[in-house]
Amino acid sequence: MNSKNIAKAASLLFIIICLACKKDAANTSNSVSTAALPDVFKKFNTTVSISTDGTYITIKSDGIPDHKSCYFSTSDSRYQAYNGTNPLFSKNPNSIGTHSFVFKIPASPSVNAAHEATPLGPIGVAINGVPMYNQYAGPGTPLTNEVNSFDQYNGHPDQSATYHYHVEPWYITQNNTKSALVGFLLDGYPVYGPLENGKTLISADLDTYHGHTGVTADYPNGIYHYHTTADAPYINGAGFYGTKGSVTQ
Ligand SMILES: [Zn+2]
Ligand SMILES: [Zn+2]
Repeated sequence: MNSKNIAKAASLLFIIICLACKKDAANTSNSVSTAALPDVFKKFNTTVSISTDGTYITIKSDGIPDHKSCYFSTSDSRYQAYNGTNPLFSKNPNSIGTHSFVFKIPASPSVNAAHEATPLGPIGVAINGVPMYNQYAGPGTPLTNEVNSFDQYNGHPDQSATYHYHVEPWYITQNNTKSALVGFLLDGYPVYGPLENGKTLISADLDTYHGHTGVTADYPNGIYHYHTTADAPYINGAGFYGTKGSVTQ
């Protein structure tokens, strides 16, 4: 064998080894419950634990916001007196408690023609682990009074001490950009801030579920997605676009 042939044989061997490695890696990820987590979920805070079995993405969170609030106890370092811009602000009697939320959302979301109505309570989760609620204070009751109890970051706690957002989570969109990924609804479709391609969207720009299909920074091939808007219904409209997963606490 001359040196040229030795080099040829060596590189062939190298390719075979590489192919074998690749096959091994693929087998591993298919056989155990650690299917690859899509990159978009790396945008969640590291305090939120996320895993996938390939069918569902499981998102575990204590529901505590990663920003200050006037709803923490005044002795808590995360307490900050209301310094927002709403002259009608009025603190509600609730406080922020720790929970054990487990959100299970479809890894491959799909449209559901039934477009199930969103329930009261958590309908999705923001990238900081805080639940998102729908546009109602009670069955069919608008948020007219509730909005005045939103803290400086646009959230508030309910009677079960669950801090939540009914509207754009300002801490997330201020820390990133107004076009940032805000979170996911239970049907597995992403929620973005109000800005897209230089335009601040309003509800009239979106469909009845408060979204539309198009390319986003995280989904270059396009996906159905929701947007938060300053006008009602804020995050979701007439129900889930897709088949919803589940949430327990
Ligand atoms: Zn509320
Ligand atoms: Zn969009």
